[in-house]
Amino acid sequence: MAAKELPVVPSARPGTMAAGAAMERIREQRPVIDHQKCNLCRECLLYCPDAALAVDKGEVRVDWHFCKGCGICAVECPVRAITMVAEYAGNRGFIEK
Ligand code: SF4
Ligand code: SF4
Repeated sequence: MAAKELPVVPSARPGTMAAGAAMERIREQRPVIDHQKCNLCRECLLYCPDAALAVDKGEVRVDWHFCKGCGICAVECPVRAITMVAEYAGNRGFIEK
């Protein structure tokens, strides 16, 4: 059987690489999905190292508990439907006195 004939499933269980309620503090960027461009090919689900993506009610959704903001999904999306945006606005690591 050719690889392309195999079903598209996540390559890891959610949280294999990282997980936690504090992931938004770890992520420097987060994926934003353009649902108008997305054709539900599921390539992003296949490549996400933390199985943070799923198709729910006909749309690709991100589980923010698991996404670490690596950007692999955005690189692999064949129609460029995923854009990585900054998790934080403003200066990061700057402590105001
Ligand atoms: S940025 Fe994309 S590939 Fe990386 S963990 Fe988040 S959803 Fe998965
Ligand atoms: S890879 Fe891109 S087009 Fe395919 S399901 Fe993911 S977001 Fe949609």
